[in-house]
Amino acid sequence: MADGMSKSVGAAGQVLGCVGLSRSVGLTTRLATSGEGEVWRTDWPGQVAKLYFNPSRDRIRKLEVMIAHPPADPNAAIGHHSFAWPQALLQNAVGSPVGFLMPEIAHSVGLFDVYNPQRRRTVLPGFNWLYLHVTAMNIASITQAIHAKGYVLGDIKPQNILVNNQALPSVIDTDSFQVRDPSSGQVYRCPVGSEGFTPPELLGCDLAQIDQSEGHDRFRLAVIIHLLLFGDQPFKGVWTGYGDSPDPNQLLSQGHWPYGKTTLIQPGPLTIPLETVHPELQQCFLRCFNEGHRDASLRPSPAEWLRALKLAVADLKACRRVNCHYYSQSYGHCYWCDRKKTLGIDVFPKAALSHQQRQAKNQAAVNTLVKPLQGAAKAAATYIGEHKLQLSLPRSPGSRPQIPSLTLPKRWTLPERWIKYAVTTGIVSTAVITVVLIGKVLMAQDDAESVVFGSLLFVGLLALWPRLVKSSDQSEK
Ligand SMILES: [Zn+2]
Repeated sequence: MADGMSKSVGAAGQVLGCVGLSRSVGLTTRLATSGEGEVWRTDWPGQVAKLYFNPSRDRIRKLEVMIAHPPADPNAAIGHHSFAWPQALLQNAVGSPVGFLMPEIAHSVGLFDVYNPQRRRTVLPGFNWLYLHVTAMNIASITQAIHAKGYVLGDIKPQNILVNNQALPSVIDTDSFQVRDPSSGQVYRCPVGSEGFTPPELLGCDLAQIDQSEGHDRFRLAVIIHLLLFGDQPFKGVWTGYGDSPDPNQLLSQGHWPYGKTTLIQPGPLTIPLETVHPELQQCFLRCFNEGHRDASLRPSPAEWLRALKLAVADLKACRRVNCHYYSQSYGHCYWCDRKKTLGIDVFPKAALSHQQRQAKNQAAVNTLVKPLQGAAKAAATYIGEHKLQLSLPRSPGSRPQIPSLTLPKRWTLPERWIKYAVTTGIVSTAVITVVLIGKVLMAQDDAESVVFGSLLFVGLLALWPRLVKSSDQSEK
């Protein structure tokens, strides 16, 4: 590795062929160097190149599988890259593969800048609890899409997730994923893991020797969602056991978190209580860190997190006192106001509102006036969850984050069959009444001339009737 670091693998101006794309790219600026290689900006706008110091055959084969089988991006419709997925192998002048091309994730910050209150205040002021919920929701949805193609993320950590100002995340470092070749069944493992995110059953294991499963990712996903909603790691608090508190890794390994069944950890003075989040989310955390601590099969899936987060987002309400406060209606009142009062700390301090945020706030006021609609909104959220539709923020470049909008059910209408019955009944009864009236008029006539004229008119009307009905039918359509 040391001699790998000392030499450079790419050079400005170097031209590399994009395998399968019948074009090439030129390297322009080196963006980063790591133990395994370099990342370069290219002359293809929006595409960056990752070059390895010493790419092994397995490394290249793993990339080929990924390029051939990309997951469906849940945010493709809004032009967002949810993962920096390999697009094409890059080869040098003699045709040897040296790395790959991937989309550049621009205008984003690391997840730490989003969940850490101090960093958030500087980097993304106004990014409130609603956006944190939506970010978590989008991460769950992205994880679901990646799992659906048989991949395991393996090294989920804040440094590998970037977030833009519209709460849209992008997973980077995708070439570390665990990849299974669908044709041969061969598994290309994820040899790296991160402290604080590795599930207890993998602690102390050589990850290079282990085939991982979705269940392992489920633990990591829960820790990430906990960081977003509570601003801190779950396995942390005031130690109530004998002696000094064990180190964070031991706490995680032994399942000591403030809401464990036999825990030696109590919530600390700054711990945000579990009750502040929606009851469905509370259940997900309890399941993952209690029953699911040892049994990966009991941990909530990304789809279950997605469903709970959608319910939670629909349940969030804007605070009347501080414009950046959102709280769960199920909790009853604004926890952030309480906290500000008792601890003197506000993790979502008042911020200057953007146009979109003012609109969102007005919308929230309207929502309280039309309370009956909230039931419908919840039903819509459930519907969206059940039908696995995306609920992500609308994208408008350069704008502040916007409130996610729920799709309300369509305006209530009569079933089409009922309308047809009503129209037919109307037509038939009108016809009957007309026949009876004309008959009565004809009977009342004394002179033959009127009877003949009236009868002709009657027969004429009868003949015209089907035409009139047909034309009225067409105009309805
Ligand atoms: Zn408040």
